[in-house]
Amino acid sequence: ILIHATPLKDEQDQKVGLVVVFDDITEERKLEKMRSEFIANVSHELRTPLTSIKGFLETLLDGALEDKTIAKHFLQIMNSETERLTRLIDDLLSLSKIEAKKVDFAPKPLNINDLVQKMKLLFKSRLEEKGLSFVSTVPDDLPPVLADGDMISQVLINLLDNAIKYTPTGGKIELLAKVKEPFVEIAVKDTGIGIPEESQKRIFERFYRVDKARSRELGGTGLGLAIVKHIIDLHNGKVWVESKVGEGSTFGFSLPITQQKED
Ligand code: ADP
Repeated sequence: ILIHATPLKDEQDQKVGLVVVFDDITEERKLEKMRSEFIANVSHELRTPLTSIKGFLETLLDGALEDKTIAKHFLQIMNSETERLTRLIDDLLSLSKIEAKKVDFAPKPLNINDLVQKMKLLFKSRLEEKGLSFVSTVPDDLPPVLADGDMISQVLINLLDNAIKYTPTGGKIELLAKVKEPFVEIAVKDTGIGIPEESQKRIFERFYRVDKARSRELGGTGLGLAIVKHIIDLHNGKVWVESKVGEGSTFGFSLPITQQKED
């Protein structure tokens, strides 16, 4: 709280009182703090891969280039770091696009079954490569939801991508959907490493990761779930997580059902 005080004077310039203004700036301060923390985080996240790329470049220039095997190995690392940088920038752009869309967001009736078929095709080879089984349980007569198709594809891509990343070979990934009036609930369930209880409430924050090194190693940006939450908030839905370490995780979200027009 900010307090301004000004003396109140009469015609003879005598102090006769005091005007005190209490200004509640806590909300403003909080936003300001979040903004500067976000910029600090982004800078750090961008700098990490750049520092690594620069390190390998310098070593190559210092002579490592002469050894073809070492040189190739360094170039491969630099290549994957570059890919991570690109992903990070793409994710940051997605976040700011969603923020901008708050103004002219126009959801349309969307069939979840079609989207699930699309996901099956999209992830088929990655699931096979990693030896993961995939099951989808979606009723044929699931009512259409009111949503932006591209955005909900992004949500499912991020959740399935995580499920694959954090589930060891031999595991199982499930996509479930059901009606819970006036919403449809969709969930991505895996048999992966799980998330500790104390991390579960922070998991949707930007750049929050349970294990920084592991996320980085897997090419993560720490923004996937923040994007998911942003998109679902925009649709007036909810997101949640249930998980047990060593057993698996379930990420769920809800979307409003398209209301049929009464005759
Ligand atoms: P990242 O790019 O690091 O995967 P996300 O925002 O998508 O970023 O996820 C944040 C963190 O949540 C991850 O770093 C990981 O620690 C945890 N996480 C997300 N999904 C899962 C999952 N299915 N199983 C276990 N941990 C997960």
